[in-house]
Amino acid sequence: MKTKRTMRDRECHLCDLAISKGEQYGQKSVSLGKTCTWSADQRPTEEIPAWAWSDYRVKVDVCAGCAA
Ligand SMILES: [Zn+2]
Repeated sequence: MKTKRTMRDRECHLCDLAISKGEQYGQKSVSLGKTCTWSADQRPTEEIPAWAWSDYRVKVDVCAGCAA
């Protein structure tokens, strides 16, 4: 994974290591599982169709060690 120098303090998502300003870090895209595109109050009572679900992915900071 490509790493870059952080301009602020961060924390590694994988090992909770503190990443200080000026150190190398990487960014990893992780899946938080499936999320429904409807909000709770709009949700129909019948079964939710497959198209209403989408992959919920977020970018997290990882330290140089975990990025390697
Ligand atoms: Zn780490």
